[in-house]
Amino acid sequence: MNPLDLARPEIRAMEPYSSARMEARGGSILLNANESPWPPFACNTTWNRYPEPQPSALAVRLAGLYGVGVDQLLIGRGSDEVIDLLVRAFCAAGHDAILISSPTFGMYAVCARVQDADIVDVPLRADFSLDVDAMLAAVTPAVKLVFVCAPNNPAGAGAPRAEILRLAEALAGKALLVVDEAYVEFVDPAGEFESVAGHIGNIPNLVMLRTLSKAWALAGLRIGTLLADARVVALLRKLMPPYPLAAPCVDVAMNALSDDGERVVRERIDTIRRERARVREALATLGCVREVLPSQANFLTVRFDDSGAAYAALLDAGVLVRDVRRYPMLEDALRITLGTPRENDRVLGLLRSLEVARNISSWAARAELPA
Ligand SMILES: *Cc1c(COP(=O)(O)O)cnc(C)c1O
Repeated sequence: MNPLDLARPEIRAMEPYSSARMEARGGSILLNANESPWPPFACNTTWNRYPEPQPSALAVRLAGLYGVGVDQLLIGRGSDEVIDLLVRAFCAAGHDAILISSPTFGMYAVCARVQDADIVDVPLRADFSLDVDAMLAAVTPAVKLVFVCAPNNPAGAGAPRAEILRLAEALAGKALLVVDEAYVEFVDPAGEFESVAGHIGNIPNLVMLRTLSKAWALAGLRIGTLLADARVVALLRKLMPPYPLAAPCVDVAMNALSDDGERVVRERIDTIRRERARVREALATLGCVREVLPSQANFLTVRFDDSGAAYAALLDAGVLVRDVRRYPMLEDALRITLGTPRENDRVLGLLRSLEVARNISSWAARAELPA
């Protein structure tokens, strides 16, 4: 199966822009791109030159990290950019559709709306697992992309690899399955929620999104990577602006992705996993907490008796958490990112005092004393 049979025919046929950096490489006197011949003021760099469209050293490093070939990867300005490219390449405006399972990451629907693609929503089950059979039943010929966020944002649930692969295989020839693995570094090790990246190459309609924004602590650089069949990568490159990645960001990323950098990231991931278990247990003992959802990510989504009061108490103390009450099935929940152990202790302390205050006022009300 050629996954490009699902793409917009006019995009397949399109002649892409050909940039100076693509047309000629090497050379010692560069007079082909209307750049300044001098480095920028007070800056001993080559930033007067346009950067490589897909910086080769970074591509090799990311391909090694994610376990795919260099031609099976597209580096973009965050996953946000590659989500947009996918929707534009595969969904004809006013005609095609994407399928999502709410509650889920908001950018899939935003990109679909911008492209005037329809959104078919097959909600997650009550336990936030994928309803694979219902998803397959909802796939019409218009659905070109099926988005699965695994682990899920905003709920935190992992999706078992077996389910993802069953979905991908059942969608063969019908739609691309886009698995957003933004949080996959945080899943329990050697378990059923680990990445499905090993299947890129043998499942042509499988696409994966990875990012340096979460575990790698580089949200400010805007570097996200799409992993897919090489033909999908080549198609999306035609739509991408010629020089998407800023040279200083690429330099910083290469440092962060060094062996030393990777060791530190692995240690921090272990810390986040330990904190996830510790904070989850501590939250569950609080009377104001209804439920702490199981999480495979670097956040805990927590149901409160009064989530508005919890949000306000944290905000009052300068602690920002995400109000996710607008999402279906999460009308009583807040999403709390795991911070440093000290930051997490601060959250627990504030919620404990909220609870003490609440107990005092309900005791006062019962005793008919002024609260
Ligand atoms: C944070 C996040 C991303 C990452 O987006 P970037 O544009 O790479 O920063 C992607 N998907 C989900 C579900 C996320 O929560």
